[in-house]
Order: sequence, then C-alpha cells, then structure tokens
Amino acid sequence: MSEKNGFMKALKCRECGREYPLAATHVCEFDFGPLEVAYDYERIRGSLTRESIKSRPQSMWRYRELLPVAGEPTVGRQVGYTPLVKADRLAKRLGIRELWIKNDAVNYPTLSFKDRVVSVALSRSVELGFKTVACASTGNLANSVAANAAAAGLDAYVFIPSDLEQGKVVNSLVYGANVVGIKGHYDEVNRLCAEIAGKYGWAFVNVNMRPYYAEGSKSMGFEIQEQLGWQVPDHTVVCMASGSLLTKIHKSYQEFTKLGIVPEKKWTIHGAQATGCSPITTAQKAGLEFFKPVKPNTIAKSLAIGTPADGFYALKVMKETGGHGEDVTDDEIREGIRLLAECEGIFAETAGGVTVGVAKKLIAQGKIAADQSAVLCITGNGLKTLEAMTGHVGNTREIRPSLREFEAVLAQDKPELVHA
Ligand SMILES: *Cc1c(COP(=O)(O)O)cnc(C)c1O
Repeated sequence: MSEKNGFMKALKCRECGREYPLAATHVCEFDFGPLEVAYDYERIRGSLTRESIKSRPQSMWRYRELLPVAGEPTVGRQVGYTPLVKADRLAKRLGIRELWIKNDAVNYPTLSFKDRVVSVALSRSVELGFKTVACASTGNLANSVAANAAAAGLDAYVFIPSDLEQGKVVNSLVYGANVVGIKGHYDEVNRLCAEIAGKYGWAFVNVNMRPYYAEGSKSMGFEIQEQLGWQVPDHTVVCMASGSLLTKIHKSYQEFTKLGIVPEKKWTIHGAQATGCSPITTAQKAGLEFFKPVKPNTIAKSLAIGTPADGFYALKVMKETGGHGEDVTDDEIREGIRLLAECEGIFAETAGGVTVGVAKKLIAQGKIAADQSAVLCITGNGLKTLEAMTGHVGNTREIRPSLREFEAVLAQDKPELVHA
C-alpha cells in the first residue's frame, strides 16, 4: 500500500459528516453520532475489479480495498468465503422458486459470522499499536475475539452475560482469554465495557474500534454477490442483534453497484428477531422510526440485545429497500432450526432458527414473492447452542447389542423390512 491509510480517507460522523482521524474512536464529539469509515472510491475503482477479486485467495480479504485496514491484514487471513448453498429442498417446503443459504455456521475459525468483524477489528488494532483487545459479547463475539487474539499473540478480555450457553462459555475459555461473566443483560455488559474502554485504553472491538469492526460484516454481502455470479439477490433475510450486520449487507450491495462490479437492480432487505427480544421488528411493524428498548427473554441469546446500537439505521434500510421486520417465538425458532437441518443438512444455532422462521412467515405472507430469489443469512453453528434443542429432537432408542433387539426397533418403523 503506497499511502499510510490504505484506501481509507477518514472516520466520518453518520449524522453531521464531520471528519476525524483514523484512530480508535467511535462517536462524534458534536452530536454523538456514530463514526463510519470513509473510503477513496476513485482509487478503489482502479484496483478492485471482478478480475482482481477472482485472482486472489478465497477469503473475505479478496475484497480488501473495501475493508478498513491500512496495510495487509495480520489477523484472520483465512476468514470467510463460506459456502452459498442452493437450498432446493427448503425452497420447496417454504414455497419459493429460488432460495440460497449463506452458511457462516462453518466460518473459520469459530463457526460464526463474528470471525469477519473480529478479523478486521484485530488487524486494525495491531496497526494502531494495541496489545490488549476486548469485547462486550452475547457469545459468538467472545469466542472469536478469544480465538483470533490467541492466534495473534494478543492479550484478550471478553465480557459476557453470565447465563450464556455452555458451548459459548467453554469456546471462550479454551483459548486462554480472560472471560468475565456479568450478572446482567448484554446492555449492562455493554455499558460497563464503555467505562472500562475509557479507563484502560484497550481496543474494545465493538466499542472504540466499532467503526472498523462493523465494516467486516460487509464481506458476507460481497461474497453473496460474487457467489451468485456477480448479482444482488431480490431478497435477503438477516437476523438482528444490534442491527449492524443488516445495515452492512445493504452497504455491500451499494458499494459493488457503485463500483460497477454488479449491475444495478432493486433489492429488498428483511430483518429477523426473536419475539422475546424484538425492539427493531416491533418498531418496523408499527411503522415507527425509532425503537423502544426491551428486556430480553428468548432462547436466541446471541440476538438478545434490548437496546440495539444500530436499530435506527436498520429500520432505515428496511424502509428504503421496502423490506419487512418479523419475529418468531422460541418454538418457531426450534422449528426453523429443524427445517434447515432436515432439508439441507445444516445445523444452525438459535439465530439461524430465527432467520429461517421469519423467512417462512414472510413467504407465507407474500412479502417475499414466491417467484423471486432470496438469500437467508445463517450466522452461527448449532453445536454451540445445544441446550436450545436438547429434548426437542426426539431420543435415541437404546438397545443391547443384539440383532433381535434391533429388529424389534425396526419392526416399529418398517415392519415390511424385517425378515422372519
Ligand atoms: C452477533 C450475531 C448476529 C447479529 O449481529 P448484529 O449485532 O446485528 O450485527 C447474528 N447472528 C449471530 C449468530 C450473532 O452472533
């Protein structure tokens, strides 16, 4: 990279447009608006083309001009380029012509889309000279910060609500990170982390590093467009915690369109939440511009943010693109997980159950037209939230190791197969 800031120009306030240096900072001093990375799109146009992208390794970094690091990435170079799966059996069940699953349940290295944002945030943290990294997390972010910090030799502090699933807790501890469980909801964890970030000067990936961190989510959208043969899908369904991923998928479609990498077309982005924590979709359904904070109570713990930082902007994206918000109960989340598993052989975590359950509703309501194409963003792996499904998937039938006992079982299912 020739220039000191790579393809970045500045941090810019989303509200008033004031510009700031490319440091570890996230709010405008004048109106407290969130800061966002501004790029030099003229230079990017000369460097990022379909051909240059195709010539690079299959990771999220093949779109590096549109990701906020100055030099080459140093953390998480293998993250991303997860499969986009044509889901014909699920399409048939849900009653739509063309359905795709973007499967970040198998993202590298910690099996959720959070590896994308962490790869960017930690690479940028190293550039800015930090030695200690930290985060406020609903689980997956903690896993990813812990793992990627370990691989990069950084010290990590991760803060989580103390009632998370075992899989998420063990998946943070195993990498040797300092894991702090807070007796409270995510919003309380987040508030504490804002204080700690100010006092100790660590790189909190989703607090003071948030402008860089959030941009990492765009890579999921870049990959969707490339894997669809350089086009934007008609509909995209995205589950929401803070709402950031949804806004960044929209931005990825805007950027590729603006750069001429994909042809212009109309797209629609829908937001999915759990009924037990649905501040954004409740506001969308009521036609409101602002959400009302809630106290979460849902099995979709990874989405349990009652005061979503990007809720306002997620509502704007849905409105601009003609998208809808919808929510599903805990039982519908489990049904969504089973549908995806039984039709496509993909075991998603609770957040994926939210996405599938909401897609099913939107198709049934005609808000996603049956003759159009839709991509469902599956963001995390079911092996990390086993508690949600335990006792809801039937039981193994235990027998002694005897042919006679097995045939007694088989006779219940398929009597015609059992030979006398
Ligand atoms: C964090 C997370 C999301 C959503 O994140 P946003 O805060 O809305 O960007 C979605 N799914 C899973 C599994 C997550 O961990």
